[in-house]
Amino acid sequence: MKPLGPIPEGFDARDGELTIAGRSASELAAAAGDTPLFVYSRDLIAARVARLRTAMPARLSIHYAVKANPYPPLLEFIRDLVDGFDIASAGELGFVEQAGVAWDRISFAGPGKREWELEMAIRSGVAINLESLAEARRALATGDALGTAPRLAVRVNPDFDLRGSGMKMGGGAKPFGIDIEKVPEVLDLIFQSGAEWRGFHIFAGSQALDAAAVIEAQAKTLALAARLAEAAGRALPACNLGGGFGVPYFPGDEELDVEAVGEALGGAFAALPDSLRETEFCIELGRWLVGPAGVYLTRIVDRKESHGEVFLITDGGLHHQLAASGNFGTVVRRNYPVAIATRFGAPVEEAASVVGCLCTPLDRLADKAGFPRAEVGDLVAVFQAGAYGASASPAQFLGHGPAREMLI
Ligand SMILES: *Cc1c(COP(=O)(O)O)cnc(C)c1O
Repeated sequence: MKPLGPIPEGFDARDGELTIAGRSASELAAAAGDTPLFVYSRDLIAARVARLRTAMPARLSIHYAVKANPYPPLLEFIRDLVDGFDIASAGELGFVEQAGVAWDRISFAGPGKREWELEMAIRSGVAINLESLAEARRALATGDALGTAPRLAVRVNPDFDLRGSGMKMGGGAKPFGIDIEKVPEVLDLIFQSGAEWRGFHIFAGSQALDAAAVIEAQAKTLALAARLAEAAGRALPACNLGGGFGVPYFPGDEELDVEAVGEALGGAFAALPDSLRETEFCIELGRWLVGPAGVYLTRIVDRKESHGEVFLITDGGLHHQLAASGNFGTVVRRNYPVAIATRFGAPVEEAASVVGCLCTPLDRLADKAGFPRAEVGDLVAVFQAGAYGASASPAQFLGHGPAREMLI
C-alpha cells in the first residue's frame, strides 16, 4: 500500500462523513446539484490569513497571487483580507477589477505581456513588474502614447534560488525577470522617462516547506535589493519579496513554520540598511493562503477489479485536478491527501486506486492507497484543492467540462 499525503487541519467528521465548515460532503454535493465539485471554505481562508498576519511583521503587506485561484466569489471574499493582488494577465486584471479591487492594490507580473495588456494596465494605473528590457521600452512607449506615466517595478532574476523549492523560478537562465547585470540599464530608462518607479520584485521559487530555506532566500533578497538600490543611488520605494510558502501535499511533508519565518523577517526589518529604511515590503502568496481551504469532491461511478487490483472510478479526474494526478510540476508521482468523504475516519480495509473518468492512464487521483471499502455512490475528497485546481487543469480535455465551484 502506498501512503497518502497528510490531510490539512480544519476538517471534521460527523456521522462518518467529512464535514467542511460544518456541512457534510453529501449535503454540499446535493446543494451544488451534481459532482464533481470544488468547495472552498471562507472560515479556513480567513484563518490562514489571520495566522499569517500574526506571524509576520506588521510592516509586511500580504498580496494574493490570483493565478492560484481566480474563482470570482473567492476573490471578492479575499479582497478585504489581503493588502494587494498580483496578476499575470489582462484576464486576471479583469477578474480583480470585477471583484472590486482598487487599481493601486494591483501589480502585474509575468513574461510575454502584449501591447494591449500593457495599455490596459497603464490606463488602469496598476503597477507593471517588468520582465525584460524590451518590455520596459514597450511600457514606456505605451505610456507616452497614452500620455500617462506608467508605474513600473523591475522584476529581478535573482542569482540564487529558493532551496527545496518545488518549482525553481530564479537563479541562472530564466524567462522571468531581468538579469542583475541588466537592471541598471532598465532603471536608467525608467528614471529618464518620468515614469513612477515602484521598486523591485524578486521571486526566487515556490512550494518551500523548509523555514530555513525561506529565511535564507528572504535575507538574500533584501541584500540584493539593497545592493541594486545603492548602485542606482536611490532609496527603494517598494520591494516585493516573492513568496514561495509551500503546503504539505505528499506523505512525509511537514507544514512550513511561518512563525519562524516571520520572526526572522522581523529581525531583518529591524536592521535594514539606509536604502531600505522607507521601503514598502510585501510578499505574494497563492497556494499557502487558499490551497488547504479547498476540497475537490467527486463521486464513485464504478468499482472494478483488474488483475487483483481495485479501481474506484470517479466522475472527476485530472481535467479538474491535474496536480493531484502528478502531472503538474512533479517529477515522481506521489499521492495527494485523498479520503473517502462518505466514510471519513473509517478504518483502512483495502488497497485501491482512485482514478478519473478520462481514457488515459495519467488520470489517477490516488495510487494503490489504503482506504475503507468504498462502493459506487460514495464521495471521494481530494484535499489541498483550493489552489491550482480548477484553473490549472485542462477542463476541456475529453469533453467532460468544468467542475462546479462553491465558496461556503
Ligand atoms: C505563481 C506565482 C506566485 C504564487 O505562487 P504560490 O506557490 O502559489 O504561492 C507568486 N508570485 C509569482 C511571481 C508567481 O509566478
